[in-house]
Amino acid sequence: MQKLTITLTILFLLFIFIYMVIPFIITRICGMGVFRKGKHGAQIAFTFDDGPDPLYTPKLLDLLQEHGVKATFFVLGSKAEKYPELTRRIYREGHQIGIHNYTHLPNWLMTPWHVRQQHVERSADIVERIIGERPAFYRPPWGILNAGDLLYLRKSYRIVLWSVMGWDWKRAVDADQLARRLMKNIKPGSIVLLHDSGDTIGADEAAPQQMLEGLQDILKELRLKGYQCVRADELQERKCAGYGNGKAVDIGHVHVKVALHRNYK
Ligand SMILES: [Zn+2]
Repeated sequence: MQKLTITLTILFLLFIFIYMVIPFIITRICGMGVFRKGKHGAQIAFTFDDGPDPLYTPKLLDLLQEHGVKATFFVLGSKAEKYPELTRRIYREGHQIGIHNYTHLPNWLMTPWHVRQQHVERSADIVERIIGERPAFYRPPWGILNAGDLLYLRKSYRIVLWSVMGWDWKRAVDADQLARRLMKNIKPGSIVLLHDSGDTIGADEAAPQQMLEGLQDILKELRLKGYQCVRADELQERKCAGYGNGKAVDIGHVHVKVALHRNYK
């Protein structure tokens, strides 16, 4: 009996290691197999997760328009479904729409097949129905992938993480702190992670308001410093895309487009 318990414990720990820990090390720590940084001159990409949100996303879109900035929105399928008009507006104003699961569930708690069918493809179907174009980029909630996602999902979706995190989901981070932190950390090629909704677990509902206030100053400063803010797909269209160890890899637009929607079964 004791032997069986020990064996089961070892198998369970082994499963955790293979299914969760190894993909985490490969993607989040080494940055392999994911896109988290471009290397083209003074271009950077702002990305906004967890929306669309009926209160904050319109304010964010106004702000981006005011500054002539294009960005990438990683939307939840359930929210895109609930707010189709807002989703259409994001697209109409020239921003990129990517997928961030149907609801904000971590991929570690789901099988790769469930993630693929019930979250990614389901959300991509919803967005495609609304805007007439199928999203090709995907960011998992909390940036965590399971082993199956790493092996299969990235064959048909470009998986995007980030190189600069705003820590903007807490109200404790005020607009000035956020602006200071981002200005300190943003470098050429940065992919910046921010949130246009505050209703996910662990976030403060009013936090996006502070993000918006901070972003206003950041966009002004970035322009003065000569940075150009582009969509994630524009950032990666350049010849050099970051792959953790700093190796430049050619991922030309055509090649990526071809690879994006290949089904795996
Ligand atoms: Zn999220």
